[in-house]
Amino acid sequence: MYIAVDDTDSRKGMCTTYVLSEIILRSGLDLIGYPSLVRLNPAIEHKTRGNGALIANLGKGKGEPRKIGSSHGSWIFSYPGEETSANGRELMDLASEIIGEIAELQEEETNPGIVASEKKFDPSFYWKAVREEVTIAEAERFINQQGGSFRKVKNGRGIIGSAAAISWPGSNVTYEVLNYRFPSGESIGSERKMGAAVMADGIEGSFNNIDHSNNYAAIFPKERTPVVFGVRGTDPDALLNGCNRIIEEYSIGVDRSILFSTNQATDDHIIKDPVNLLPGHSYSIEGTIAGNVCAIKGGHYFTYLQYGNSGIKLAAFEPTKEFRKVFSSLAIGDRVCVYGTYKDNCLNVEKMRVITVSSLYSKAPPVCPKCDGVTHSKGHNDYRCNQCGYRSSMAVYRLKERGISPGLYDVPVIARRHLSRPFAMRNHETKELEREVSA
Ligand code: ATP
Repeated sequence: MYIAVDDTDSRKGMCTTYVLSEIILRSGLDLIGYPSLVRLNPAIEHKTRGNGALIANLGKGKGEPRKIGSSHGSWIFSYPGEETSANGRELMDLASEIIGEIAELQEEETNPGIVASEKKFDPSFYWKAVREEVTIAEAERFINQQGGSFRKVKNGRGIIGSAAAISWPGSNVTYEVLNYRFPSGESIGSERKMGAAVMADGIEGSFNNIDHSNNYAAIFPKERTPVVFGVRGTDPDALLNGCNRIIEEYSIGVDRSILFSTNQATDDHIIKDPVNLLPGHSYSIEGTIAGNVCAIKGGHYFTYLQYGNSGIKLAAFEPTKEFRKVFSSLAIGDRVCVYGTYKDNCLNVEKMRVITVSSLYSKAPPVCPKCDGVTHSKGHNDYRCNQCGYRSSMAVYRLKERGISPGLYDVPVIARRHLSRPFAMRNHETKELEREVSA
C-alpha cells in the first residue's frame, strides 16, 4: 500500500521526511522498495522550502531484505517485493495521528494531505505537478479517478504533492541519506560542518555537498529541523556507508538515518524549447544574446535573449554569486542555452551552456605607416602621427579578449535548486553537450 504525505512542516520546524519516517517505523510494517522524496515545481508560492512530497510502500515484504538505514540502533530494512499489502484506512489513521502530534498545524500555511493507494498513479499528474500549478480540486478528482483515497487536514493542500508523489514514475533517480535527531540536534560549529561536508564530497557519486568559494556546507540545513544533515548521490550503498563514517568521524548526534530515492538533480522541472513562456514554469531555451549586460543595485545582472521572434529578459541575481561573472561576460551575438524559472517577466538563469561566443573588436588609432610612430585621434576618424604629422582616416580594429569561452556553466552549490541537474554531475548527456560546445 502506497502512503504519501505532504505539507506538514513550516519554516519554524518539522520536516515531512521525518513524518514519513515515523509512519514507516510506527506502522510495524515492511518497507517495499525505497521510501521516496519527490520534489515538485520549485516556483510554487505555497512551498515551505524545497517543495518536497514523501511516499513509502508498506506491507509484508518478500525477497532478500537490504539495510536502508537505522533508528535508535536498530536496522531499517527494505524488501524488493510485496507478499501482501497493508490496509489503506489503517495507514491513513496512523498518518493522521502522527500529523496531529508533530506537524506544524498551528501555522496557517501548513495544510497536510495524506493519500493512499494500492497501485501507483498515472505519471501525467507528476509531470504536471513538477512543471505547472495544480489545484486541490484537480488533485481530488485525479485521486478518485485513479481509485486512491485521501484525507485532508485543514485545507488539505498537501494532497497535491502526495498525489504527485504516488504518480512519480521514478524513471530518473538519485538518492539522499537523511540523518535525524528529534526534536532537533545540537548546534554544530562551522569548522566541523565544513569538515563533514568535505568528507561527504569524497563519497563516490555524491554531489552538491560543499561550496568552497562561499564557505558553505550544503549538507546541513539552513534552518533547525529534525534533519541534522543529508548527503545526495547516485550510489545508495556508498551514501549509507559514507554517512556512517561522517557521523563517527565528527561525533555527530544522530538517532535515525534513512535512504530515500529522489528526483533531485534530474531536471524533471525543465520544459525544453517552449512555444510560449508562462510564469512559474522552468525552461531550457537556446537563443542568441541580444543586449548588453547591465547591473542594478544589489548586484543583480540582466540581458536579453533573442529566441525565435521574441526577446526574453535573462537575470543572474545576487544569490548566484560568482556565476554573475560569467553572465556579465556575455555579449551580443553569443549563442547560448539557458536553463531557469520564468518569473516576473524574466528567466532566472540557474545554469547555462555557452555554445559559441561572438568576435568583438575594439577600435584603435593606426600605427604610422611612414615612421612607425604612434598616432592619436583628433576625433571624427582623423588620426595624426605624433612624430611626423602623417594623417590617416583609417582606424584599426583589434580582436578583443573575451572573458568567456564555449562551455557548461553551473551556478555555485550555494545557489543550486534541488531539481536542477548540475553539469558538474557528468553523465552521458553532459558528455554529449561538452562535445557539442567544443566542436
Ligand atoms: P519541505 O521541503 O520542507 O518539506 P515544502 O517546501 O515541501 O516543505 P510544503 O509545506 O510541503 O513545502 O508546501 C508545498 C505545498 O504546495 C503543498 O501543499 C503541496 O501539495 C503544494 N504543491 C506542490 N506542488 C504543487 C503544484 N505543482 N501546484 C500546486 N500546489 C503544489
